[in-house]
Amino acid sequence: MIREQGRSEGGCIEVITGGMFSGKSEELVRRLRRALIGRQRVQVFHIATDTRCGEGDVLRTRDNRSLSAVTVTSSDEMRQKLSLGVEVVGIDEAQFFDGGLVELVTELADLGVRVIVAGLDLDFRRRPFGPIPELMAIAEYVDKMHAVCMRCGGPAQYSLRIAAGEQQVLVGDVESYEARCRRCYASSAEAGEASGIGSRQEPAR
Ligand SMILES: [Zn+2]
Repeated sequence: MIREQGRSEGGCIEVITGGMFSGKSEELVRRLRRALIGRQRVQVFHIATDTRCGEGDVLRTRDNRSLSAVTVTSSDEMRQKLSLGVEVVGIDEAQFFDGGLVELVTELADLGVRVIVAGLDLDFRRRPFGPIPELMAIAEYVDKMHAVCMRCGGPAQYSLRIAAGEQQVLVGDVESYEARCRRCYASSAEAGEASGIGSRQEPAR
């Protein structure tokens, strides 16, 4: 359920999470735009490893909406670049941040800032990703978004990696990942289609 916070409600933490292609950034931008319309002081951050946007200090969504954003390399740098008197802080691709983000987000919310965090809950092996699980635990509001399974059309919560590679962080898009539901993710793993998953099915020597 999507909630809209009012100006008078004070600080809080909102997490928008789910798999790839589930519309997290679109939802983040939608909430931030509403805050801007409400004449609130808004600041948006994204991490430098997210090269998908490729536009420097702009947060661009798949549906081609954009907002100016501050690019940082760590939670410490984000702390230094916070504007005085900011009322709403948006953070995109938060799974790539270090653990210091949890502390920073808590501090901001305690100070009365509305913090909206978007990021992947799981990596391509379906393991909890970066600081997102902790952020989900401390947040007032969590919205878990679903993509459309590219095999059966059902609601998808997993990001299946179809490109080669074992590293957790592989910034990519439709050429590297596919949205899958639980059943279709499992059947791909069994068939050894997915990168890094099929190898688990091989008998041990
Ligand atoms: Zn499916």
